[in-house]
Amino acid sequence: MSRYAEPMARLIEELKKLPGVGTKSAQRYAFHLLRSSDEDASALAEAVRGLKASLRLCSICNNVTDVDPCAYCASPTRNQRLVCVVEEPTSIAAVERARGAQGSYQGVYHVLHGTLSPLHGVGPEQLRASGLVSRVERGDVDEVILATSPTLEGEATASWLATALRGFPVKVTRIATGVPAGSDIEYADEVTMARALEGRRDV
Ligand SMILES: [Zn+2]
Repeated sequence: MSRYAEPMARLIEELKKLPGVGTKSAQRYAFHLLRSSDEDASALAEAVRGLKASLRLCSICNNVTDVDPCAYCASPTRNQRLVCVVEEPTSIAAVERARGAQGSYQGVYHVLHGTLSPLHGVGPEQLRASGLVSRVERGDVDEVILATSPTLEGEATASWLATALRGFPVKVTRIATGVPAGSDIEYADEVTMARALEGRRDV
């Protein structure tokens, strides 16, 4: 079926599973690895193995971490009672980059690992929201900032969470739409993200 020797064909097949990698790129990477030193190839293989072996989700906020609780949840200098809810671990970087008039974000996070998407069969039970609700129920949180993206799914998720948290003595806010509607907050620049955070409003 393949013109390549089995080990090469296998590597190409695995590389093609990566986002944005088509057949041509996969072949280029595979041949690059074939030409690279044993050390470089082993280092890559070891890094991939280590990723799965040593990384886990933080038991408090669901962030991807090698220590539990993660660095944010364990930080004595961050406001542990201010929780910013994001869709993916990668969204944290966008919030961390935000630099506004009030400085950088000093609170902690809760990662949902997705958004509600009835069209794709993703309901509330598929989101990792229970940890957040427990934190709020215990009275550990003063404010929950809903920083899901201003997409259809992100808005649906934010309003579902706002409803789920209603009735608890916690302030629930939604980031302002400084982030362009329909875009992913992951790609917001630092000023836009800072404005979105500072302009948040009660929901
Ligand atoms: Zn954490």
